[in-house]
Amino acid sequence: MDNKVALITGAATGIGRETAIAFARKGADIVISDIKGEDLKETEKKIKEEGAEVLSVKADISREDDVRNMVNEAIEKFGRLDMACNNAGIGGESATSGEYSTAGWDKVLNINLRGQFLCMKYEIEAMLENGSGSIVNISSILGHVGFAEAPAYVASKHGLLGLTKTAAIEYAQKGIRINAVCPGFIETPMLEDAGITTDEETKQYIISLHPAGRLGKPREVADAVVWLASDEASFVTGHPLLVDGGYVAR
Ligand code: NAD
Repeated sequence: MDNKVALITGAATGIGRETAIAFARKGADIVISDIKGEDLKETEKKIKEEGAEVLSVKADISREDDVRNMVNEAIEKFGRLDMACNNAGIGGESATSGEYSTAGWDKVLNINLRGQFLCMKYEIEAMLENGSGSIVNISSILGHVGFAEAPAYVASKHGLLGLTKTAAIEYAQKGIRINAVCPGFIETPMLEDAGITTDEETKQYIISLHPAGRLGKPREVADAVVWLASDEASFVTGHPLLVDGGYVAR
């Protein structure tokens, strides 16, 4: 990936951080973005340790101005955009569909679906300038199946797969491939915040849903993203790739 530029959103922690580092290992120049400026600095340090060039941009993907600026800064610094991993997302509150707050629904959809749409919109515009590009959206197993008490998250991740497939069809003959990675439960701060890895009983229950008998690691998702983004996946587009230890196969 020498002389190629990769943009990763939500790169301050978890899957986004590992993905940014994985792109750096392949030789790409890196643009990392997040709302958390401090944690972003730690990711920046790790990318530099891999010998890659890196630009950090603080951006909230639910704000169109931030997203436009993020892509513009990437182009100003590196002159082009070749690959993007739209990873930023939130879990949201835990409640049944009948009890879910309207404000909670709006918040999750605003980031996980509208925010992803905004990122794609400006990334595609930049990639059309090159006549090539590759986008990988981070959906979830919950883009394939339901999960009680997470209606907004599940709807946002299903919606993101629809958006991925539609954009893939639209840009297939313009040199831009658009795919999604759908992780199972991965050990990141998101699972801590949801109380899944902090409560042993809950953790064991979630593990039991994965035929692999364990949670996934951020690196395992990152490697799938990098492959999909790379030329090795040159005939793959519109694909929702499960990285889930068999969760959806049951
Ligand atoms: P994480 O909480 O560690 O990382 C998410 C990052 O996104 C954080 O750094 C956060 O600051 C950032 N973010 C949140 N809202 C943002 C916004 N409005 N603008 C910019 N950045 C924002 O969680 P993670 O597990 O690494 O999740 C990364 C992605 O993977 C998410 O889209 C999540 O839905 C998805 N995912 C996670 C799992 C899992 O089990 N961890 C499973 C399937 C899918």
